[in-house]
Amino acid sequence: MTDPTIGVLAVQGDVREHVAALRQVGAQTRPVRRAAELDGLDGIVLPGGESTTMSKLLDVFELYEPLRGALADGLPAYGSCAGMIMLASQILDTRADARHLDALDVTVRRNAFGRQVESFEADLDFVGITDRPGEPPVRGVFIRAPWVEEAGPRVEVLARVPDGATPGGAADGRIVAVRQGRVVATSFHPEVTGDLRVHGYFVDLVREVNSSP
Ligand code: GLN
Repeated sequence: MTDPTIGVLAVQGDVREHVAALRQVGAQTRPVRRAAELDGLDGIVLPGGESTTMSKLLDVFELYEPLRGALADGLPAYGSCAGMIMLASQILDTRADARHLDALDVTVRRNAFGRQVESFEADLDFVGITDRPGEPPVRGVFIRAPWVEEAGPRVEVLARVPDGATPGGAADGRIVAVRQGRVVATSFHPEVTGDLRVHGYFVDLVREVNSSP
């Protein structure tokens, strides 16, 4: 197929970094601020940022319902950090009026790692990436990140926090990357490390969806 066109939700957050990473793995990109810009996309990325602000802006830009509908119709999606929160079916520790897009059967806890470890990094095993021979771990950069507190039966866990990555091992084993069919989410920010493998994983998924009958 020709290069897939991946939208990047561009109401708030680290849009530019995702656009750059997607281009480097062979996708065309399109910033999405209006509902019409969802038309004809092969996939969409929801960037990191601040989920309650993103939620408000989705309403301001009249994007909430169209985006939710496109996801329900099977538009492949990848959400990083705040993007993961937006894709979830349930959010803990958020504002009562925060919207979410219900595309992943997970409960996420916002700012889950607590104040002492607002930001940290860890080397992660990532199913589908580091289980291939010779692949080094994926460096997870966590910035006021959520974790997945509960995952439904159709959700595949792709990565967890390794033992001892945070003080006292408080986050050992917490789920930080998931996939449910065409929807992928990570608590961390691969777009800031120069490691293109998570974006490559998502774009490969999009190509597979497009090539299956
Ligand atoms: N803590 C942010 C939120 O609640 C997410 C942080 C991020 O995307 N880096 O939305």
